[in-house]
Formats: sequence, structure tokens, C-alpha cells
Amino acid sequence: STAPSVMTMNAHFASVGEAPTKEQYEHGIQVIDEEKAFTPNLNTYLQVVGAAQSGFNYHLISVFGSQSTGKSTLLNNLFGTEFGVMSESERRQTTKGIWMSKNKREGGAESEKMADNILVMDVEGTDGRERGEDQDFERKSALFALATSEVLIVNLWEHQVGLYQGANMGLLKTVFEVNLQLFLKDRQSNPRSLLFFVIRDHIGATPLANLRNTLLQDLTNIWSGLSKPPGLEKSKIEDYFDFAFAALPHKILQPEKFVTEVQRLGTRFRAGHRAAKQHGLHTDHELEGGVFLPEYHRRIPADGFSVYAEGIWDQIVNNKDLDLPTQQELLAQFRCDEISREVLEAFDTTILPLEERQAEGVRLGKLTVLKDLGVSGKAARVKTVKAFETEASRYHKGVYARKRVELEGKIDTRLKALYQGQLSAAHKTGVASFSDAVAGAVKAGQKKGASYEFADIVEQEKLIALKQFETEAKSLAIDGVPWTNFKQQYKLYETDLDEVSAQLRKEEMRRLAIRVERWVRSRLGESVGLEFNKLGSGRGGSGAPETGEKPATEKDLWDRIWNLFITTVKEAETRFIERAKSFDASQDEIDVGLWRLRRKSWGVLRAKVDEEVMEGNILLKLRENFEDKFRYDEAGVPRIWRPTDDIEGMYTKAKESTLTLIPLLSRFRLAATYAPPDLPEWIGNAPASVDSKDEEDLTPIGGVDEEEGKSLEEEMTILSEAKRQDLVVRFKKTADGVYVEAKRSAIGGVAQ
Ligand code: GDP
Ligand code: MG
Repeated sequence: STAPSVMTMNAHFASVGEAPTKEQYEHGIQVIDEEKAFTPNLNTYLQVVGAAQSGFNYHLISVFGSQSTGKSTLLNNLFGTEFGVMSESERRQTTKGIWMSKNKREGGAESEKMADNILVMDVEGTDGRERGEDQDFERKSALFALATSEVLIVNLWEHQVGLYQGANMGLLKTVFEVNLQLFLKDRQSNPRSLLFFVIRDHIGATPLANLRNTLLQDLTNIWSGLSKPPGLEKSKIEDYFDFAFAALPHKILQPEKFVTEVQRLGTRFRAGHRAAKQHGLHTDHELEGGVFLPEYHRRIPADGFSVYAEGIWDQIVNNKDLDLPTQQELLAQFRCDEISREVLEAFDTTILPLEERQAEGVRLGKLTVLKDLGVSGKAARVKTVKAFETEASRYHKGVYARKRVELEGKIDTRLKALYQGQLSAAHKTGVASFSDAVAGAVKAGQKKGASYEFADIVEQEKLIALKQFETEAKSLAIDGVPWTNFKQQYKLYETDLDEVSAQLRKEEMRRLAIRVERWVRSRLGESVGLEFNKLGSGRGGSGAPETGEKPATEKDLWDRIWNLFITTVKEAETRFIERAKSFDASQDEIDVGLWRLRRKSWGVLRAKVDEEVMEGNILLKLRENFEDKFRYDEAGVPRIWRPTDDIEGMYTKAKESTLTLIPLLSRFRLAATYAPPDLPEWIGNAPASVDSKDEEDLTPIGGVDEEEGKSLEEEMTILSEAKRQDLVVRFKKTADGVYVEAKRSAIGGVAQ
């Protein structure tokens, strides 16, 4: 024994999984079996016979009558069905429970065309013989048929007419009773039914009109004999039923006539309307066209019929009060949920891949703006809601409306998340490309060397960025759906662009500041250098070395440097302001920029001064200054030393004069006040908007940044005490060298 091969297993599954075929339902479907169990396959059957998608375009007929009165035979002849019939030899009940079959005689010539999708129910007949005194099933099946069917065919032999005590009349009494019970709960919709009496084996001696009158009289008698529930005591039989009558000849004795009459009867199963004239009891004369009046229809959509019928039967079998409105509401809930799930599946096929792509982007930190999202989102929403509407709007209006809102809620939750992700991607990428575009344009402007207008660049790029976002946001808008208005997001985006602009402007300000600082550095480098160079000349000023007075050029060195400094910075400030204003910098930003510029400029000056007083530099200047005083006379003519000259006296005088420069150089002091310039006042307080990040790159300044623990006096000290003394010693040595050389040259001159 070997295990079944994959192939045989597949073959097995294929046969099991095969779709049901029409052949399987040749004899229709047993809706309710003899055990009173409801079939699980009714919907499958309706699908197989193509009735499930007919909406309201279907009709339900049930047949009643005592057993073996030719009911199944009649249906089979009328509708081409193949319900089981009793063989003519054995007289035994065949139809058990309730069977259903779809009319197989559809089509035909226009004049005798039957209505679409007629579903016929063959109800097990009772006569108390087979089922004993089981009136229970009769009552239950009557209730079931009344709750579902538009037309109830009552089948009886001609000779049964007028037999008030007969089994038929008992059945009709039951039908009327359950009808009252049923519609006690459902007074609003108050659906009517047609009782269609088909009289069999009509011999013809008694005209149909007479038979009809007899039956109507009997029906009225039965009705008046019923004990009616409170509130319905005065109700009349015609409040609930219309009546129609037909007679058929004997099938076996007049087989041909039977066939033609059945055919004629068949033409009555199509849509009809009520004649304008109404009076008393409704008779078949008042039905024009066919027997199917719209008011008979139970308004259960075909795709919900199986669920509805099963629910009804469940209530009946369990002896619960049959409450049709409640059943219809339950059905609506069930079906609307089912339809909702179905349409959401279709929605998923469009939306899920988009959601996945978006999530992927988020996961990779690479936000993606999905192409044409607005178009596909809108289409999916409209399609889904429309599909739901088509199917579900046939059900209970209130339930449908509620479920539609629920469905729209589900769709919108999904779309909202998707759209918000889309806009946040558009937002992020938009801000980034805006920032890149501005930076790129600035760089291009700088490369060309041409002056570029930063404000114009920003304005232009902002317009582009806003337009792009607006286009995306507008593409997501859906008419009549308020949440698809993304004005708020647009505003947020604009705010972000402005923030980025401010950041970019700040950077542009930095670049400007650097350019201006560079300019200050080169300016000061030159002019301050010149001032120090002047020190090399001992005769630059008006003062005479003999008087011991310092020359004016030396005495007001710092005044001149300070003035140079503040005029240079003033000029730089003017340039800065002018340029900064051109790109819309705020007064605040300008104030911060100027404050930084002044501080940085001070640093530039301080560095330049330090460079000038560096050991070698300053020693050279002092030596030049000394030599100028020692080796040249007042007229600037070089001295030729003779042994008689007071070389020593002149040396001492020149040396002393040059030495006075050292304390002067040591401190940055203004001549008038003999005090440092008011640097803190000149720099000014930090503007309120300066944040600590702005200050990170700034060198602390003594006397300005007090918390740094360095005083203004220290800031203004150019040479420390130690350096000063060291400089004095070194200078003296240099001067001594010059003196010895002079002495030597005097002696040498004599020797020559
Ligand atoms: P049902 O139990 O009411 O469904 O009756 P059936 O259709 O099974 O028929 C019962 C018996 O009546 C069968 O033997 C049929 O041949 C016979 N029968 C059918 N139609 C007619 C008819 O029009 N007249 C007479 N006399 N017998 C009929
Ligand atoms: Mg039968």
C-alpha cells in the first residue's frame, strides 16, 4: 500500500472543489427537509441558476393544497420544473418539506413572456394521512410561504369547491390566521399577497365565475369566523389579499386541452398592475397584465434572500414571534457588512500596494511622493462607495445609511493616513529642494562673481515650492469630502519654508559678515601697519628731541589707531547694513550682525597690534627710532662722528627719548583722557535676540564680557610688565651696539 501520489490527490481535490452545476439541482433544491432543517446551499443554488444577482427582479410563488391534488404536476407543466410527482400506480406522498426551483420556461414570444427569475416553492401538502395530526408543519410552512411569497397558488379539485369542511378550507383558515399574526408586527409595510386559486379537473358544467363566487363566499365566512387579535377586529380579508382564479381541464381525460390551458395560464405570470377602478373584493378582473403586482414583492434583494429565508425559518421553527421588520433589519446588517467586506477587498487591491510603498519609504527614511495618488485614491473611493450603494441600498434604508457611513469612515481612515503621509513627504522633499535650490542659486551667483539678490532668489524658489505643494494638495481633494481640504497643511508648509528662509538668510548674513570682516582685516592691516611704521622715524612730529618732549606722532599713536579703527568699522557697518537690507534681513538680525562685526573687528585690530609689537618687529622699530634720533641731525643729515663730538651725550638723549615709547606702546590709551577708549560702550550690549549659539565663535573681550574675569585694563594691555622690561634690556643692548659703532667710526675717521 503506497501513499496516494500528489497527482491523484490533486485530482481528488479538484473534484471536491468543483463548482456546483445546474445538473446537481435538476430537481431544484430542498429548502426545508422533513426534519425541518434549512439547507445551507440555497445561496449557491440561486447563484447557479443565475438569480442571486437579480436584485429585486425576481418573484416568489408558493403552491398549497391537499396532498396528491396534482400540485407538483401543475408546477412542472407551468414552469418546466422537475419536482417529484407521485407515479400514477403507487399513491404515496412524494413532496417532502419545501422544494424550490427556478422557472425553466423563461423567454418566449413577447406577448406570452413570463417574468424574469420566477422562483417556485413546492410545499408539502397535508391531508392528515401521512403526517398524522401534525398540523404543526402545515402552520409553519404556511407562515414561511406567506413571509416570502408574492403569489400563493391554492390548488384544488373542482369537486372540493364549496366543501366548507374540507381539508382545503382548514388550510386556508391556517393561512389567514398566520397572516394576521405576521402582520400584527408589520403594519407599516403591510405587504399584500395574491391568492391564486387553480381549480383542477374542471368539467365545465359550472362556469368559473360561479365557482369563484362560491369560493369568495367561503373565504369571507372563514375570515369572519377567525378570532382576530386586538386592534384588528374590524379588518377585512381584502385588506391583505387579492384573489385570482383559473380552471384547468382533466389532465388525463383531456390531455391536449390540459396542455393548451396550462400554457395560457403560464402567460399570466408576468408583471401586472391594478385596474384604476376599485371596489369591494378584488377579483382577477381587476388585475391587468400579469399577476405580479409590485406591492406583492417582499423587497428582499435576491442576494440576501437565502439569509433572510433562513432567519425567518429559524424563528418559525423555534416558535418565536415572527417579526418581519426586525428580520429585515438583521438581514440588512448582515448583508451590508458582507457587501462592505467585499467592496473593501477591491479597495485593498488598489490601496494596499500604495500603503506598502509609502511605509517602505518611511522605513528607509526616504519619503516618497506617490505619483497620481489623488487620482487613484479618488477613483478607489468613488468605485468602492458606488459598488456598495448598488448592492446595499436595496436593503433597509436606515441600516444601509448607517453602514454606508461606516464604510466611508473605513475608507477615509485609510485614505487620510495615506494622504497625510503623501503630504508629509511632499512637505519634507519640498522644503529640502527649496533649501537646495536657494543654496545652489547663491553658489552660482558667487561663482559668476556677479552680485546676486538673495531676497529675489528666496522669493522665486518659495513660489516654486509653494506651487508644487499646492498642486499635490489640490490633486488629493475630493468634492464634498471636507477632510480633503489641506489648507492647514499648506499653511504649515509655508511656515516651514519661511523658517528655512530665515535660516538661509542667517547663513547669508554669516557669509556677508565674513566678507565684511575680511575687508576690515585688510583695511586695518594696511593702515595700522603704516602707523607703526611711523615709529621708525624719530623726527616724524613737531616736537624737538632736545626738549625731551615726545613727538606728536608718537604721543597720539593710539588716538590715531582708534580713530582709524572706528572709521573703518563705521564704513564696514554701512556696507553691512546696506547689503543685509537688500535681502530683507530684519532689524534684529542686522543689530546682531553689527554687534558681531564690532566685536570681531576689535579682535582683528587687537591681533594686528599684537603682530606689530611682536618681539622682533618692535625691537626693529625702536632701533630705527633711536638711530634716527642719534645718527641724524635736526635737518635729517647723517652725522659724521668726530672724536670731539659729545657722542655719549647724544646717545643718552636719543636712548632716553626712544625708551619713553615703551610705556606708551604698552597700553592702549587715548591722549586726552590718558585712559583706554570706552570699548564696552562702543561695542554696545548684546542685542536681546542673540542666542548662545551666535556667541560660540566669539572670543571673549576684557571689560565687555565681564563674566570672563578679564578687565578692560587687561584687554588694553599691549605689553606685559615682563615683556616691557625684557624689551628695555634688549633695546638698550641694541642702542649700546650702535653707540660703540659710532665711537669706533669717530676714532677711525681721525686715523684716516
Ligand atoms: P401533489 O402531491 O399535489 O404534488 O400531486 P402530484 O403532482 O404528485 O400528482 C398526484 C397524482 O395526481 C399523480 O398520480 C398525477 O398523475 C395525478 N394528476 C396530476 N395532475 C392531474 C390532473 O390534472 N387530474 C388528475 N385527475 N390527476 C392528476
Ligand atoms: Mg408534490
